[in-house]
Amino acid sequence: MSSTPPCTLCGGTSATLLFPGNIGEDIGSRFSQYAYYDDIFRCDSCGLVVQRRRHDLDVIAALLKAEKYLDEAIGTLNLIEKHVQFEALIRLIEKHRGLSGVRLLDVGANTGVFLKTVKDRVGTARGVEPSREAAAQARSQGLDVQAGLLANAVLDDQAFDVITLFDVIEHLTDPGADLATLFRKLAPGGAIFISTHDIGSLLARLSGPHYPMLMYQHFYHFTPRTLSALLEKTGFRVLGYDRFLKSWSVEYLYNLIAKKWPDSGLARRFEALLSPLLRVPAIRRARITSPQRDFFLLAAEKPR
Ligand SMILES: [Zn+2]
Repeated sequence: MSSTPPCTLCGGTSATLLFPGNIGEDIGSRFSQYAYYDDIFRCDSCGLVVQRRRHDLDVIAALLKAEKYLDEAIGTLNLIEKHVQFEALIRLIEKHRGLSGVRLLDVGANTGVFLKTVKDRVGTARGVEPSREAAAQARSQGLDVQAGLLANAVLDDQAFDVITLFDVIEHLTDPGADLATLFRKLAPGGAIFISTHDIGSLLARLSGPHYPMLMYQHFYHFTPRTLSALLEKTGFRVLGYDRFLKSWSVEYLYNLIAKKWPDSGLARRFEALLSPLLRVPAIRRARITSPQRDFFLLAAEKPR
């Protein structure tokens, strides 16, 4: 137990070190940022899990650049994967809200893959994205995406019926403040949908300090309970949550392993096993599912 800055959720100042940080001298040579992080604490009063940074931003920037390059190398396949995953999320959203005619805002829109997937089913689709490059790429495809942080975005109050944040909330440095901003942007009766990983899931608990979602750029690790509490504190009414599986095509995994770990024993075994099979289109497109439902989509509304 140690004294820490006040908890974002409950204001408590006592927290327990859950996982000591493991960022070290290997920061330049490490190829993966999964399970690589600064000290992670859990609030003794409410259970909220947070990462407290000790390393400076230049170090993070260098790490992210390396990862971005790897993502781009896998490019087109990565886009197809995201598109498939967004279709599954849209089905979960439609359990709570019809999308026809709604004014939608996607926060952390990235290059606009979700907006592109959803735009023909909604009234208007807009986005906000902190990366200038990603926002410019979205705009070049005719999508309405503002570059910049949510706190500085030019958006009218009560201008949206549905707001989405997919794998974004864990990256925010002050999620309480951003949720308060989004509460104002929603029309009364409007709904917000937030996806993130569950630090209380079986996979996370079994993996302990090796849970891949413990990452440098993830400042918060929620459970459905702690995220619900933060939303309710902001004024939202929680409607419920669904766990969902992430899945990847065989072709995508094959390329990911070949590009990320070239010449590794794993890549060679994969190659020997899969290259004959990959000539069969049905096998290329077959999907492999994550073994655990460690992601969830939480729905909440702004009361009328
Ligand atoms: Zn707390």
